[in-house]
Amino acid sequence: MLIFNVVGLSMAGIPVENLLGLTCEELEELAVAHHQPRYRGRQLYRAIYARRQTDFDALTDLDKSFRQLLSNNFRVQYPSIEQRFESPDGAVRYLLALEDGQTVEAVYMPEEDRTTLCLSSQAGCAVDCRFCFTALLGLKRNLTVGEIVGQVLAILADRQLSARNRLNTVFMGMGEPLLNFVSVLKSIKLLSDPSGLAIPWRRITLSTVGIVPGIRKLAGEATRPKLAISLNASTEEQRTALMPVNHKYPLRDLLAACRVYPLRPGERLTFEYVMIDGFNDSPEDARRVAKLLGGLRAKVNLIPYNSGPEMPYHPPPLERVLAFQKVLTERELPAFIRVSRGQDIRAACGQLSLVGLGVQNHPASTT
Ligand code: SAH
Repeated sequence: MLIFNVVGLSMAGIPVENLLGLTCEELEELAVAHHQPRYRGRQLYRAIYARRQTDFDALTDLDKSFRQLLSNNFRVQYPSIEQRFESPDGAVRYLLALEDGQTVEAVYMPEEDRTTLCLSSQAGCAVDCRFCFTALLGLKRNLTVGEIVGQVLAILADRQLSARNRLNTVFMGMGEPLLNFVSVLKSIKLLSDPSGLAIPWRRITLSTVGIVPGIRKLAGEATRPKLAISLNASTEEQRTALMPVNHKYPLRDLLAACRVYPLRPGERLTFEYVMIDGFNDSPEDARRVAKLLGGLRAKVNLIPYNSGPEMPYHPPPLERVLAFQKVLTERELPAFIRVSRGQDIRAACGQLSLVGLGVQNHPASTT
């Protein structure tokens, strides 16, 4: 039984069921349960995800009585935009409010030939990486499928982006996606469905701290996003110091899971490596990283650390980043320096949601 237990009216008689996040089959079942032909569920699905409608009255291809039934009992509601922080580089960080008052953040990053949306999978995060600002929040809760897909729909609506825009989505916002496995996977199926939002799998990247059972489970999924692993260190000791999760899932086990991870033709695993001044940025570190990843179809994204007053870490000087990159590329490991966008609005990696801690931003403009 899917949805019908939760369908109902609130005390005030306001329709309570938000349809966002339901799959095509679930919407078909909803139609059938309301004595409608099954195909009406499919129509509704396309209206919500392909045409991105939120107003049932506008669905004039649907039978009028069905529209009425929908308006009386359901709604399609995106997370609401509480604030926008706009960076001069074009990135916009969104503070989005969920129905229970929790807030999450998502970032819009326009580029010449594509647009990237950085999504959250949880409100806060439980993983406690020593260098990450989101870790300071702790875990509030997992996001639902509707709240994950809703981040995309809310931003697309706000930016008035059409389906023709080349869209990339990355699960690199707040949270650890593999610790919210079921909802994240279901949301990826919705995002990638050609008759819905139609974002191809190769434009969806899931970034993980390295939850080994989650990686093994993902390996068995038919609909898989691209996988990025936050490596961030070149030895077990160094990684444990930065990421206590390495006690539970040590590098050795993580890389073993990576070696058997099924890649599609032309696909590579991405390893993210946050570079911290004087900690993990030496040429020896680079040589060890090349050795660790030897034999894997991999590439490395070097991310100079984004600093903030709450943390004692700093990015290395550019020469060290370039020297590190050179060691990797000389060993035939493609390595890219990832320029963080939106640093001035604290939307760069790991900087999301300090608003929740009362840390002030200096946005160029807000709503
Ligand atoms: N939990 C997932 C996804 C969110 S973090 C993960 O860890 O992969 C996304 C990326 O940002 C990770 O590679 C993480 O190591 C990096 N990151 C976190 N804080 C950062 C900071 N202050 N500066 C640069 N990168 C950071």
